[in-house]
Amino acid sequence: QVRVRFAPSPTGHLHIGSARSALFNYLLARRKNGRFIIRIEDTDQSRNVEGAEEKLLASLKWLGLDWDESVDIGGEYGPYRSMDRLDIYRNHVDLLLKQGHAYHCYCTPEELEVERQSYIEKGETPRYSGKCRLLSPEQKETYEKEGRKPSIRFHVPEDQILKVNDAVRGEVEFDSNGIGDFVIVRPDGIPTYNFAVTIDDHLMKITHVIRGEEHLSNTPRQLVIYHAFGWDIPQFAHVSLILNQDRQKMSKRDESIIQFVEQYKTLGFLPEAIVNFVALLGWSPEGEEEILSKEEMIAQFTLERVSKSPAVFDVNKLYWMNNHYIKMASLERIYDLCLPHLQQAGLLPEKLNEEQEHWVKTLVGLYQEQLNYAKEIVDLSTVFFEEDVQYGTEEQAILAESHIPVVMEAFYKQLDELAEYQPETIQAALKSVQKETGYKGKQLFMPIRVAATGLMHGRDLPQTLYLLGKEKVLKRISRFLT
Ligand code: GLU
Repeated sequence: QVRVRFAPSPTGHLHIGSARSALFNYLLARRKNGRFIIRIEDTDQSRNVEGAEEKLLASLKWLGLDWDESVDIGGEYGPYRSMDRLDIYRNHVDLLLKQGHAYHCYCTPEELEVERQSYIEKGETPRYSGKCRLLSPEQKETYEKEGRKPSIRFHVPEDQILKVNDAVRGEVEFDSNGIGDFVIVRPDGIPTYNFAVTIDDHLMKITHVIRGEEHLSNTPRQLVIYHAFGWDIPQFAHVSLILNQDRQKMSKRDESIIQFVEQYKTLGFLPEAIVNFVALLGWSPEGEEEILSKEEMIAQFTLERVSKSPAVFDVNKLYWMNNHYIKMASLERIYDLCLPHLQQAGLLPEKLNEEQEHWVKTLVGLYQEQLNYAKEIVDLSTVFFEEDVQYGTEEQAILAESHIPVVMEAFYKQLDELAEYQPETIQAALKSVQKETGYKGKQLFMPIRVAATGLMHGRDLPQTLYLLGKEKVLKRISRFLT
């Protein structure tokens, strides 16, 4: 059975790059009828952030990546939080110590720094020399008496070529001499990521480790631990980097990219659009069609089609894709998405009456096709809230045409007499003006649009006029009467 895991550290919000790793794991699990596991890797306690675990899970849930085992629902292989597994790690460390694969290291940070510098001076990659491996029991005792707290290091075997067959990168080799004995347990007794992850992946029977390329350099450290225990190695798959539009490695500070899943939610993106977009950052379906439902992706997903070359984050494509999903969604859904933005912008009250609700529905219906994400509704609708309107030169020219007073006069009268001010009745009023004055098409609609909105282009005219409200429209039109 395929068992995959997404193993975030609770250090902050769900990053879009991590969401991709989660998604690929999820897709493989669902494709193979396997299990998708969420494990929280929180042993680097200085980096943990209060509340991050809940936020990560909430973002995954929002994306619709449901899981089969995790901290919240448990499972056969728990606990699913590293800090709840300290006993398990301790037992495994003891075994490594006993078998000579690990040893206590008493070096102080200062001593390690001196060593590091000497490697740098020699032009070599800094690594730990392994000197504590050779300590005699007496030396150890002396250090203990000094009150030094040892860390535990893994003894990396010398002169080995460590090989791994990566599902994305093919055969990758590492020289064991470049690694240096690394810390597996810190002086406070808490294991490091490389140790915990290996123990956990093994004990949780993980079959495929799908994660970002930034973890490739950790892989040899994990390999030597697998070897020491004589465990089978899971199928690794290191997914390539995501580049920004300038083809630079995306950093968390890059402002050209919306970084966190929660931000997408806040801006009013649709989760299915994000999932679709993120899936294509490195994976490609067989056909040409890029719009894919989750079910279609599950049906097609294979690691073979995950690309080795970096993926470029194309913001315009993201907008295009989200716009596509917004267009396909029901008005109700987009309304629910847009309304809080209008309220937060102070354009609408917390509680709407029926009329206001109708107004917002018309507004959202009018712009749904055009929205890249829900928050854009705020900018698009300010025109309806502004008290006054300014006319540019071109617009003034249109409003100066000789037939304008006749049209405006007739329209003013029609509107003024409307008992109900609705898109339908406004439409009828326009019709009457056409009959009465003989002006139609552009000659009729353009000046009215320009007078009412100050713009030559826009969406459906009756609806636009309805949204502006009778009072504003009458006031603006009245300027152009004889
Ligand atoms: N805890 C690691 C991270 O958040 C996960 C690495 C892995 O998947 O092995 O980057």
